[in-house]
Amino acid sequence: MTRRTALGWVALASCGKKAPYMNALAERYVRLILAIGKHQPKYVDAYYGPAEWQPTATKPLRELSTEVSALITDIQQLTGVDPLRFQYLLTQAQSALAMANILGGEKLDFDREATALYAAKPPVVLRSDLESARDLVDKALPGGGELSERIEKFDARFAVPAAKVDKTFRAAIAEARSLTKKRITSLAANESFDVEYVKDKVWSAYNWYKGNSRSVIQVNIDLPINVDRIIHLACHEGYPGHHVYNGLLEAKLVRERGWMEFSVYPLYSPQSLIAEGTADFGASLVMPEHERLAFKRNVLFKEAGLDPKSAEEQQAISKLRAGVKHAAIQAARDYLDGRMNAEQTVAYLQRYALNTKGMAERRVKFFDAERSYIINYSYGEDLVAAWVKKTAGNDASAQWKAFEELLSTPRVPANLL
Ligand SMILES: [Zn+2]
Repeated sequence: MTRRTALGWVALASCGKKAPYMNALAERYVRLILAIGKHQPKYVDAYYGPAEWQPTATKPLRELSTEVSALITDIQQLTGVDPLRFQYLLTQAQSALAMANILGGEKLDFDREATALYAAKPPVVLRSDLESARDLVDKALPGGGELSERIEKFDARFAVPAAKVDKTFRAAIAEARSLTKKRITSLAANESFDVEYVKDKVWSAYNWYKGNSRSVIQVNIDLPINVDRIIHLACHEGYPGHHVYNGLLEAKLVRERGWMEFSVYPLYSPQSLIAEGTADFGASLVMPEHERLAFKRNVLFKEAGLDPKSAEEQQAISKLRAGVKHAAIQAARDYLDGRMNAEQTVAYLQRYALNTKGMAERRVKFFDAERSYIINYSYGEDLVAAWVKKTAGNDASAQWKAFEELLSTPRVPANLL
């Protein structure tokens, strides 16, 4: 069956008897996400569906909670529909109910909030594990004085000078794009992105997906950015991260199948764990260690005006620092649950996350603004990495195939367990 909406979507609904009803529930879901977004503008991260689905008035949150509850009941009664699509819509709707309740005043601690919004239980982070990982960096990082001072010096040494950030970032994203396109061939031919540089944001970079395979990637230049961070952001926001993920969902699910629930992206939802997890994992998939080192030595260090001979040393320390990646989750948990104040959290992030003071201060602002969202990065990456390995083993081609499947099908965190 083919239908055409005002915006010109060509939706090929499947022949199953339940599909039209499923599509009606998907439309109710989209409309409710947009309505909740009226109470929290950051909630609707992207929307490129029909303009007439946008709410004309702001509905009270209590009313929205009741409507989302009714939607959940109706979804639960569905039978005979695509199981991944069913589970996605149900899990996303359950998260939307939690969001409406939280905006309406419900107070949840860090772990309960993360579980309600992202459908994942954040990991326990042991201080002893962080101490061990920190010790390795302490031993490996040259120079005298406190580790926090050496971290500041190290990051300053490998920071890309402000005047060279654009050239360096564009070189990194061009490489990430070319490597990704060799592996993922189903990207739309017209896919494109723009890069903008911004300040005064709580994040390092952001992908704003505009629909029609186009993204605007913003890079925050408040703080100096080191070379590894440039590569990471190019992969995470661009290829094979958010730009590719959003582009594949649009092409495969919205345009090919008419599954309109994917035309909206609610930021504080389980979809973000998949989005951030695949974007972080994708950075190591597209540029594994030896390729990354070669790219730094041959291209990026020169673009940044750094000595290519120091690339190996830089990468070795960078790799060791990844051992403390879950420290930010614990910092956010203790801060948001009131066990540490802002100053103590900055000190904790410097000590255990091995962040510079500037980065630690920005992260505390991120916790204030985005709360338990932080779990989606390092924990999402762990879940995606484990799933890809379980599904595809160690073969790179098989891993890319599994990764592409993850990016082009309805997925929630439970699908990764
Ligand atoms: Zn991201």
